[in-house]
Amino acid sequence: MVYNRTMSEPADCIFCKIAKGEIPSSLIFEDDVCMAFMDIFPVKAGHCLLIPKKHYTNMFDVDPEVVAHLGRRLAELTRKVNAAFKPDGVLNIVANGVGAGQEVPHLHIHVIPRNEGDEFRFQFPKNYRDEMAPREDLDRLARLIGES
Ligand code: AMP
Ligand code: ZN
Repeated sequence: MVYNRTMSEPADCIFCKIAKGEIPSSLIFEDDVCMAFMDIFPVKAGHCLLIPKKHYTNMFDVDPEVVAHLGRRLAELTRKVNAAFKPDGVLNIVANGVGAGQEVPHLHIHVIPRNEGDEFRFQFPKNYRDEMAPREDLDRLARLIGES
């Protein structure tokens, strides 16, 4: 498994404990592979999480079959949150690694209902659209990612 140096080991993993029922969660749904439950520090009412029951740190080590299953259930959860709260939109976020803001080292996808003008900010930097990137740079970076 790929671990970030500052992350805890599975024995201490809070989401493994939730998956095993060792600590409480407010369950939305579950199946053999994954479960969805309410985030304990919601940034907005309705903020919830989807996790695999098996421990994976993040997208760097998750099995393709598991992430495919999570993708299907994520669409379902996102629609449910949309139906329940009728927000202006619903945000899906995954942080992969401490550098991306991941605090709990067990793969989880945030599902957050959003309304225009709400407190929660998830914004690209101001002025980022001032200049389009040169096509040759985009092509070079596309090749770099594709070949990595
Ligand atoms: P991240 O910063 O992406 O690692 O997010 C971790 C999320 O897990 C945060 O939004 C926390 O509020 C949430 N969280 C931590 N512990 C629990 C818990 N016991 N039950 C539900 N959510 C939790
Ligand atoms: Zn875990």
